[in-house]
Amino acid sequence: RTETDPVLRVRDLRKHFDGIVALDGVDLEVRDGEIVGLIGPNGAGKSTTFNCIMGDLPATDGSVYLREENVTDKRTSALVNEGITRAYQIPRVFPDLTVHENVVINMRHRTEPVLPTAFTSPKSDVSERAHELIEFVGIDHLRHEPAGDLSTGQKKLLNIAATIIGDPEIVLLDEPTAGVNPGLIETIIDTIDELNSNGTTYLIVEHNMDVVKQLSDHLYVLANGTNLVQGPPQEALDDPQVLNAYFGE
Ligand code: ADP
Ligand code: MG
Repeated sequence: RTETDPVLRVRDLRKHFDGIVALDGVDLEVRDGEIVGLIGPNGAGKSTTFNCIMGDLPATDGSVYLREENVTDKRTSALVNEGITRAYQIPRVFPDLTVHENVVINMRHRTEPVLPTAFTSPKSDVSERAHELIEFVGIDHLRHEPAGDLSTGQKKLLNIAATIIGDPEIVLLDEPTAGVNPGLIETIIDTIDELNSNGTTYLIVEHNMDVVKQLSDHLYVLANGTNLVQGPPQEALDDPQVLNAYFGE
């Protein structure tokens, strides 16, 4: 595991829904330049962890730090501006906007007057950068199409491009290959891998163990809303506690 500073730290995160304990103390650390995998059986608390980190849900207790700053329960829009972005399991696009506009609109500091120029002037930096990213994820031929016309896999690639436009500190990906045509899975893996090589740090929830093993530098396994095991991917996956959590009982 790298010795670099943590970008994201989650400490004793707890989330209760009425009587249901969804998160019962989750600890995570993602360091600069890493791809960290987050796995666990259904109901383990992966999505709730993402929702609490991103301010989609208020945490019951515990804290989230972006570098030295406590960002617990900040609003999603504030977190995006500070450098945490997320792509959802079911891709989210503005269906009537073009592919290019969908990337541009995810630029950080959305209240600053960067947007109107980016839309109208193809030479603006944000617009150029969006174009580069669209090319990079391999959907340049769809640049002027309404995003609603894309396949699920293409929308996932679009979301991956959109999470990067503001040069975030860390990107959270929820099941980047779920529901994707097998022909595009390799493209998605290669794209994430290459963006990581270029400096993007990732925390990724993923069911596909081949994908997890290929991409992750470090793995956290959750079960019943808390940490079960962490370590190098193959080691963590071979841990009897993990096998038991997935296949036991
Ligand atoms: P995972 O993403 O790992 O499959 P979740 O984070 O979706 O797990 O769910 C963790 C636990 O919290 C589950 O028991 C789930 O039923 C419960 N849960 C999640 N969201 C809600 C909610 N909005 N209301 C009540 N219970 C919830
Ligand atoms: Mg989930």
